[in-house]
Amino acid sequence: MDHPPASPYLPAERILLGPGPSPVPQRVLRALAAPTLGHLDPQYLAIMDHTCAMLREVFRTKNPLTFPVSGTGMAGMECVAVNLLEPGDEAIVCVNGVFGTRMKDVMERCGATVHAVEAAWGDVIALEQIRAALDAHPHTKLVGVVHAETSTGAHQPLEGWAELVHARGALLAVDAVTSLGGHELRVDDWGIDAVYSGTQKCLSCPPGLSPVSFGPRALAAMDARKSKVRSWYLDVSMLRKYYTGGGGGGRVYHHTAPINMTYALHEALTIVLEEGLDARIERHAQMHRRLRAGLEAMGLRYIPQRSLHSLNCIGLPAGADDAGVRRRLLEEYGIEIGAGLGPMAGKAWRIGLMGHGSTVRNVDLVLTALRTILG
Ligand SMILES: *Cc1c(COP(=O)(O)O)cnc(C)c1O
Repeated sequence: MDHPPASPYLPAERILLGPGPSPVPQRVLRALAAPTLGHLDPQYLAIMDHTCAMLREVFRTKNPLTFPVSGTGMAGMECVAVNLLEPGDEAIVCVNGVFGTRMKDVMERCGATVHAVEAAWGDVIALEQIRAALDAHPHTKLVGVVHAETSTGAHQPLEGWAELVHARGALLAVDAVTSLGGHELRVDDWGIDAVYSGTQKCLSCPPGLSPVSFGPRALAAMDARKSKVRSWYLDVSMLRKYYTGGGGGGRVYHHTAPINMTYALHEALTIVLEEGLDARIERHAQMHRRLRAGLEAMGLRYIPQRSLHSLNCIGLPAGADDAGVRRRLLEEYGIEIGAGLGPMAGKAWRIGLMGHGSTVRNVDLVLTALRTILG
């Protein structure tokens, strides 16, 4: 054991190199322990406003409606879906992994008819496929796509998507849970209308908040709804009165914001901007290349054609004991990596190099550990 625990309930210091959560810096953990304020205390509102301002920088957007939804990344997915879709609407969703599959399910639960555009797991969706789907379904209101498909490690290009989607009068909604803060993501330049992320991936904050941003087209679509949003908790028409003070009447209580999680996100975003977004994205690229060179030298192969930098999905070497190797990594080295999900269960490993975890030390450690265990 790397760190014999004093009590079985005292969490060990793991090195989190899986699909999330990622390692959390001490500064962020300390921020969590600051005194809890009231959710309408002017001091707290100033912290919240500054958190939203930093989120705009990290999303590279000017959207006033940018805030952290209470809940993990899935809450962000539900928030985007339930506010932009209502019964009778049509949507197109890209399905090439677990999270695209979930997005389709979530949007169907909003009462929408969802047309799937599919690619093999590990592949990305071609813009031509979206063009054909829009031709076949001209009443489509929204196109949903996962930018960083964490289940397969595939990196979906999005350049040029908005021009096509907007020309057909539809909205572009993007899952950026595993790309925000680790990969190039330009919400305004790329014309993204709605985007959601999570705190525990490349932002290196504990799980619990889901940053979202809605652009002017998405706002117009929400204003034009015929029916009430089918989730009370995630109804942006009410949430925006609290988070932005917009809609008249000033700040209005909706639900108690997760106060201390906001401190943590504020500190995590401060760290991102201190490093600089471009430098951080470049660090993720360099660490990915370092890991990839080491894994390929061991004869391991990447599954996706276009790999993410934040998540490395490799095929299991022939004859390797999937669970046994992962257990030894955890017990002997304190390293967590991810197993394959869905159809890739037992066939793949997923090594995350996210945020604070994307370092030379961790890359070289996991390579050494794998070399030792695999012999
Ligand atoms: C992790 C993840 C989610 C879900 O986030 P949770 O925080 O687990 O709710 C959604 N989409 C993608 C691409 C993810 O990687």
